[in-house]
Amino acid sequence: MAEKLTSKGAIALEDKYGAHNYHPLAVVLSKGKGAKVWDVEGKEYFDFLSAYSAVNQGHCHPKIVGAMVDQAQTLTLTSRAFYSDALGTYEKYITEFFGYDKVLPMNTGAEADETALKLCRRWAYDVKGIANNQAKIIVCADNFHGRTISIISMSTDPESKAGFGPYTPGFEVIPYNDLDALEKALEDPNVAGFLVEPIQGEAGVVVPDEGYLTKAFAMCKAKNVLFIADEVQTGIARTGKLLACDHEGVRPDVLILGKALSGGAYPVSAVLADDEVMLTIKPGQHGSTFGGNPVAAKVAVAALEVVKEEGLAERAQKLGEIFRTEMRNIDSGMVELVRGKGLLNAVVIRPKGGKTAMDVCIKMAENGLLAKPTHDHIIRFAPPLVISEEELMEAVEVIKKSILSFD
Ligand code: PLP
Repeated sequence: MAEKLTSKGAIALEDKYGAHNYHPLAVVLSKGKGAKVWDVEGKEYFDFLSAYSAVNQGHCHPKIVGAMVDQAQTLTLTSRAFYSDALGTYEKYITEFFGYDKVLPMNTGAEADETALKLCRRWAYDVKGIANNQAKIIVCADNFHGRTISIISMSTDPESKAGFGPYTPGFEVIPYNDLDALEKALEDPNVAGFLVEPIQGEAGVVVPDEGYLTKAFAMCKAKNVLFIADEVQTGIARTGKLLACDHEGVRPDVLILGKALSGGAYPVSAVLADDEVMLTIKPGQHGSTFGGNPVAAKVAVAALEVVKEEGLAERAQKLGEIFRTEMRNIDSGMVELVRGKGLLNAVVIRPKGGKTAMDVCIKMAENGLLAKPTHDHIIRFAPPLVISEEELMEAVEVIKKSILSFD
């Protein structure tokens, strides 16, 4: 039998044979259940990243894994050249779940964002009547929508953008949470869409002012512009509602979902819209070999059922309040700011004696809790939504102890 891999051995393998496009913490995970994960040496951790909010339903949720295994033993892939007995049922379920006419299934978040951009452009030409190749899409500074060429073309993050040009044209960047800038940008009649994250996750859980989404939506409607919400990270109960847009009663014209649509079991993403938008794309104009495959279809239905059955939005809402209160009560100069909604939260760390957010994360890992800094000084805390209140309080103690160890 092959010798069991140690953490050191696994890290060395990734380092030697994998591209160096990530910089992980030195923890090698081999098992997960609910809100917890274990490394190859058997050390237990709370997972406070949840694969960037993909594992909202908890690691290896039995219902989701069960649906996946059942379908994997029956039929995994037909390609969209043929119908399958799983896809239509899923499409009916998800469109009724979120209240849209139609869904276009893809695999990753970035693909779903690309799909939304294409839909928006097509709608611009076929319905709104913008002259060919003139459509513009407004996006926000500090956005994160993925890493494809067109998506980084809309990005303002030098790390993901610089050195990958030439870039895709047709985007205008305005500051986030700035309605005046949006109003000005909307004066251009060639604007077809406004693509926005209801909370900017990767930027460090940046929550816009209350009323921003409602007003932005109304401004888009007044100019016949599509309001496109990227809820890949914020959606599916993470922020204490099914969608983050629900906090303001906004129903996006185009809704982008990914990550937790599979509970982290499988890459499943989707774009939802009504017929006026969705039917602008005709056969052959868009697609993906794996998009909407039978396993994805079954996994997504199970993942959404779990969200409803286990009341995950309500749980996120309640536990989020407790979490932010506990974080604000930490008596340390290192806690500069606590912000978030539901169980998507961030603590802004004020460096102390040369110790930064990364040092806090390393200390927390030593103490049994995994989180990762974003933008140097911000730590995002996003546990699986199935975490119990008792587990949350245990985790809070780990975070407190770790931060206070630098005092
Ligand atoms: N959109 C948002 C808001 C995200 O947070 C992410 C990933 O973090 C993506 C899109 C890209 O998703 P994926 O990594 O599945 O392509």
